[in-house]
Amino acid sequence: MKTGLMGTQDITALNNVNITLYQKEILGLVGASGSGKSTLARVLVLLYRPSTGKVVFEGRDVTNYRGMKLREYRSDVQMVFQDPYASLDPYHTISWHIRRPLRIHHYRGNIDERIDELLEMVKLDPPSYFRDKFPHQISGGQRQRVYLARALALEPKVLIADEPVSMLDVSLRIDILELLSRIREDLGISIIYITHDLNTVSMITDRIYVLHNGEIVEEGQTDDVLSNPRDDYTRSLIEAAPDPYKRI
Ligand code: ADP
Ligand code: MG
Repeated sequence: MKTGLMGTQDITALNNVNITLYQKEILGLVGASGSGKSTLARVLVLLYRPSTGKVVFEGRDVTNYRGMKLREYRSDVQMVFQDPYASLDPYHTISWHIRRPLRIHHYRGNIDERIDELLEMVKLDPPSYFRDKFPHQISGGQRQRVYLARALALEPKVLIADEPVSMLDVSLRIDILELLSRIREDLGISIIYITHDLNTVSMITDRIYVLHNGEIVEEGQTDDVLSNPRDDYTRSLIEAAPDPYKRI
């Protein structure tokens, strides 16, 4: 897959990238800043269309999906970003944020009950305490949970989390990663966990791809890659991150 980004000049941000995500796995995409991780994530949710190559989901080529099909695809494949503050509207309550996707996609059940269920799922408990709060009234970790609840609202099959804990304190990071791990167990979804921080990778991922300058330089089971890296770049990343978190 090659990605030329739209603009005055074409940039090849990814080249020869070929990744597979299996059901119910947590896949890590690891690489330094600028290695192409976010670009790849945007290609996967079809915010960027690859200039060559394709995106295949459940056996179907979705690369050129538009309109209704694109909407359906995007409800199956949800994304969570690094900075939940930037992605939450300061003038609206927590429940408003979670209600939105449910409304837009014409959720058929009881929306208020669904919002409470989602708040509980991400451990914003009791929901009654959080429902009417505004983003600035809760902590950074709680905001990331709200964003996660919103992403889970439509029961996606895939969750792509782009540096979801990079802006959080270490203790909060572990909480959110634990939550991701539990969500995978409870909902049986697949998660792509994107990070530049190798320390957190060992904690939740089953398998990883290491990206360097827009190319995949190494892939494999996380434990194998971390204990026996074959690529020089991977080795340098591991040396820079000597303190892996324990697996949850
Ligand atoms: P990462 O998420 O790993 O930090 P990115 O995917 O954001 O990396 O960026 C990969 C490369 O593509 C970088 O060299 C970056 O400068 C470039 N890039 C990303 N987005 C754009 C854009 N909208 N326009 C031009 N270049 C971009
Ligand atoms: Mg990025």
